[in-house]
Amino acid sequence: MSEEILDPIVISEQQFDKAAARIVDLKSGLIDYLKEPNRIHIINFPVELDDGSVKTIECFRVIHNRVFGPSKGGIRYHPDLTVDEVTSLAKLMTWKCALVNLPFGGAKGGVVCNTKELSPNELRHITRRFTSELFSIIGPSTDIPAPDMYTDEQTMAWIFDTYDRLNPDKNNRPVVTGKPISLGGSLGRHEATGKGCMFATQHFLSKALIPEQQEIAGARIAIQGFGNVGSIAAEEFFRHGATIVAVSDSKGGIYSSSGLDPEKISEFKDENGTVVGMPDTMTISNEELLEIDCDILLPSATALQINSSNAKNIKAKLVVEAANNPTTPAADEILQQRGIYVIPDILANAGGVTVSYYEWVQNNVNEQWDLELVNSKMQKRIFAAVDAVFDYWQGCVVGDNPDDHVNDGIREGGVPDFRTAALIVAIKRVADATLMRGIWP
Ligand code: NAD
Repeated sequence: MSEEILDPIVISEQQFDKAAARIVDLKSGLIDYLKEPNRIHIINFPVELDDGSVKTIECFRVIHNRVFGPSKGGIRYHPDLTVDEVTSLAKLMTWKCALVNLPFGGAKGGVVCNTKELSPNELRHITRRFTSELFSIIGPSTDIPAPDMYTDEQTMAWIFDTYDRLNPDKNNRPVVTGKPISLGGSLGRHEATGKGCMFATQHFLSKALIPEQQEIAGARIAIQGFGNVGSIAAEEFFRHGATIVAVSDSKGGIYSSSGLDPEKISEFKDENGTVVGMPDTMTISNEELLEIDCDILLPSATALQINSSNAKNIKAKLVVEAANNPTTPAADEILQQRGIYVIPDILANAGGVTVSYYEWVQNNVNEQWDLELVNSKMQKRIFAAVDAVFDYWQGCVVGDNPDDHVNDGIREGGVPDFRTAALIVAIKRVADATLMRGIWP
């Protein structure tokens, strides 16, 4: 078997092409436009470290598409970050926003740095300089960053403060989301991505595709990555009656067949910097976690974790992509053949950008909504997106008779998986809106 291609750009193109090929009358020039990023910014700047030395820092902001409104997407800090990875993530943001019907396009950004080796002072200097370099690019109605891996509320507060100082006398709160509550952050934003994963899973299970698992209660869950998304997802699934059998972070994982208490894991991680070593648990590797005996697997860390080398060993009946891009196209095929369903990233983790949108709306009118309102609005939007994807998928697989294929504008042959169905819904919305606006001039 030829070696699997793990290039993020190639993978995002394969996923896009698989979906686009099933949409009737999508003009080839329009396909090219929807595939390519609108613009890519690559910036290098110097930063003075605490010991007086100077380091050159590389950073990126990629804007993929703005057909529906300002571009929206997180900022990631990671030592291995590449412009190709950021570009593929910017594309995902376009499809994610379209799938949950937000008036946003897609973008992503990042800084090549290792937050574990930087002091708070150094991180603040890097974030302020990064923001000043992006000053003419980001803005409340042009491009709006948010947190992602190894960035948090504090990072967003520095971005807001820097932008606000450079652009006084305006309401600059909507320039960035995921801010601390005291600076205009939305109630529920911190929990939104993990909670949204739970809502998407809950609604998906209610469709009875897995007859023996029609609700979260009683499910055994394994979660790779115990950061913002993974730890909140663990709490949410636990609260709904699931047993969390395994979790992990970058240093390794822990397992307990009788179940783990997410709150106790968080306390242990806060004290020890890792989940590994928690009393009464068995230490496992991240590779072992993915293949552990469980009902639902949540990759909640980084990309390409489920690939051709381990997809045949996954034991879960359902994979919920809390992380972005955790499954390769080759793994998708293997999981599909094995009857394992995948709730794709653009659906599973869309709760985060949905509540970011609510934060942006609240900031624009200087209001703060109740937590119940935020959560119920988010739940409604995630349920509607699950329904839209499910209907498309079902409309294509109900039978061999072409008359059974009830979706307009989709080629016969059906939609093979939920990722492709979700991408078809999103790509069609963006393509239709592009043509509706009219190709300029
Ligand atoms: P985070 O930085 O809060 O947490 C990341 C976690 O992953 C940490 O526990 C870290 O130790 C662990 N990790 C890192 N590398 C790992 C590896 N190789 N193996 C196992 N664990 C590893 O980040 P986050 O905000 O929770 O984001 C996690 C994922 O969710 C990312 O893919 C991100 O793009 C996606 N996501 C995040 C949001 C959000 O609102 N934060 C929204 C949508 C999608």
